[in-house]
Order: sequence, then structure tokens, then C-alpha cells
Amino acid sequence: MKKIALEFINLIENSGYKAYIVGGFVRDFLMKKESYDIDITTNATPKEIQKIFSSVTVKRPINDEDNYGSVRVVYKNIIFEVTTFRKELEYLDNRHPSRIFYVDDLETDLKRRDFTINAICMDKNSNIIDPLQGKLDIQNKIIRTIAPSEASFKDDALRILRAIRFMVTLNFKFHPDIIIAIKKTKQYLKNISYERKKIELDKIFASPYAKRGIEIIKELELEEALDLKNLDRIQDYTDLIGIWAMINSDSYRFTRHEKELIKKVNIVYEMDNLDPKVLYKYGLYVNILAGINKGINKKRIIKAYSNLPIKSKSDIKVTAKEICHLLNKQPSYFLQDIYRQLEDLILTGKLENENDILLTYIQKNFKEISG
Ligand code: ATP
Ligand code: MG
Repeated sequence: MKKIALEFINLIENSGYKAYIVGGFVRDFLMKKESYDIDITTNATPKEIQKIFSSVTVKRPINDEDNYGSVRVVYKNIIFEVTTFRKELEYLDNRHPSRIFYVDDLETDLKRRDFTINAICMDKNSNIIDPLQGKLDIQNKIIRTIAPSEASFKDDALRILRAIRFMVTLNFKFHPDIIIAIKKTKQYLKNISYERKKIELDKIFASPYAKRGIEIIKELELEEALDLKNLDRIQDYTDLIGIWAMINSDSYRFTRHEKELIKKVNIVYEMDNLDPKVLYKYGLYVNILAGINKGINKKRIIKAYSNLPIKSKSDIKVTAKEICHLLNKQPSYFLQDIYRQLEDLILTGKLENENDILLTYIQKNFKEISG
């Protein structure tokens, strides 16, 4: 990946511009961790970058000016976020600068960034450029803002969540100023869109240290500003959907599939997760999420599930054709009623799932509907 990244900045440099790898990739490289996309900072403008790369797609998210001055280039299957050196003027609404302007020097650009660990660069020859001492903070495992913390968070309150995200995912500590600043600026989080906040929260919740992240959110008393209720309900920190299900928020947006799961987990949360009928109806995943959050041992739930005599309707050992033949009827809605009864009886252990037993039962109990 590094080889392709160096190749990429060389292409920009060969066109007469300066270009550096910055942000997550350099940070992760120094920590010997894997990265997935690469941020590039350059004095070439987005238009000039588009001229260099034919495969450039310009990012223009609807209603989102956050990515102004930045283009996304897919080069050799790697996503490069290319941003032009810039300085930002006075921030409005705790998120957006009133104006940005392009500058020609790297250091000015690095100073407008959030944390020292994110302001380390690598040039085309693999040299590390680190005027803000980010490497030292990586060594000491410290998250430190570049500007004074309070001003930094007031300018852009999303940085509060980014600070927590990096602290949690990298397992670092906050510089003490960050804690003081978060306490003073946390109300500005309300001005940040739920969409942006969710991106950071997802990363916190999906991390192996999600528990620590949630504890920090509680310690810093950010529940109200983030509109995160029910954090105390969470017992299981291993599943993102499980965590969001316990929070059960109306403010954050989810996909239809996520919404369905969250709803089901909450329904099942109120039920007995070892009840065969509940396990059958809602499936293993939903029962595990709800069950673990209630303190039920995961293995017990898995065992109860694997002991189910049937896991779906197709496991019932009598076909629609056999039923129709037996009752001398054409297939229609009555089949549903029969299957529902059979499911119930089999799951509660009142009826064995054997073809002849089921046929005998049907004949005895449904003969009045036979044609
Ligand atoms: P990741 O590993 O998640 O990509 P990252 O540090 O690369 O982490 P990005 O969101 O990709 O984070 O941003 C790239 C870089 O842009 C950051 O490293 C940081 O230098 C700068 N940056 C991003 N968001 C902000 C912000 N809200 N305020 C200041 N600088 C920011
Ligand atoms: Mg990045």
C-alpha cells in the first residue's frame, strides 16, 4: 500500500506540485497498523489534481460542504482523499469555517488539523515530516489537540467525538487539557449533524475497546449533548447493532435492515430468550443480542437454539402436497393455519416432528375441513 501511495504522490510531484501523505495512513504506518484509505495533502488544487488523474471522481455530497477543496481519486484500487493545503477562517456553527483559502505551505495546512498524531506527513522519499511532534505523542500514546483544546473544539465540535474515537480505537490517553475542554464545550455537539456524529460513534462502538468508549462518554457526561439514552442498559460491547439496540434512539438514522434488527432486539429483550418459540421466531442473532445484554450466558442461548426441534417452517416433516392429498383439498390459506399449529406443537414438545405422526395428527384434527 505504501508503495502505491508513494507512486501516487510522485505522479503529483512530477506535474510540478508538492504532495505528502498525511493523517491516518502515516499515523497507522508509524504504529505498524493497517490502513484502508490514504489522505494526501498537496498544493495542487482539485482541478489540477483532476487533470493529473483521469480516473478522478469529484466528491460532491448533497448538502455537505465539509469536503470542499477535496477530491477522491481511486488509484490502483486504493481510495485517495486529496486535499489542497489550506487555512480556515473563523468557524461558524461549531463546525464550518466561514471561509477557507488555499495556501502554499505545508506547515500552515498541518496547523489547521485536529490532533498532533494526525498531522504527521510522509514525503515522496518516505521521509517523515513532523513539525508538530506527533510522533512523540504516538510514542507516549497521547491525544493532543494542535490548537488550544477549548478553541479547537469550539471551532469544530466534531473533534470532541474524534478525540474519543482515536483515544478508544488506538487505546491512547487524553492530554489533560482535552478533558477540561470537553467539559466546557460539550454543548456544541448539539450543533453537529447526527449523521456525522454517528460515523464517529459507529467507529467507537465497533472497536474492541467499545466498553471504554462508552465509559468515557458517561464520565464526561456527554449523554445529553449526544442524545444517547440508556447507556446503562448495555452489557454486551461486542456488537455494534446490539449497542445501538440498547440505546434505542430516535435521533440517529439507521438503514431499514438495522432498524428492523434494533426493533426485534428490543421486543425480544422483554421476552424469555430461552423460550423455544422466541428463539424460533426471532432467530439466534437477535436472541443473542438481547440475551447477553440481560446477562444471559451466550453459550446457553446457542445451546437452546441448537436444541430446537425445528428452525424454520421448511424443517416440518410434512409437505403441503401431502396435507392437501390427505384432506383432499386444493392448496389455500388453510395450510397456513395448519403449519402454524404444527410449529407451535412441535416447538413446545407436544408433537414429534415425524412424518407419520404429523399426518395422523392432521387427519384427526382437521378432518372437518377436508373436501
Ligand atoms: P482514519 O483512520 O479514520 O481515516 P484519519 O485521521 O485519516 O483517520 P480522516 O477523517 O480520514 O481521519 O481525516 C484525515 C485527516 O484530516 C486527519 O488525520 C486530520 O489531519 C484531518 N481532519 C479530519 N477531520 C478533521 C477535523 N474535524 N478537524 C481538523 N482536522 C481534521
Ligand atoms: Mg483517513
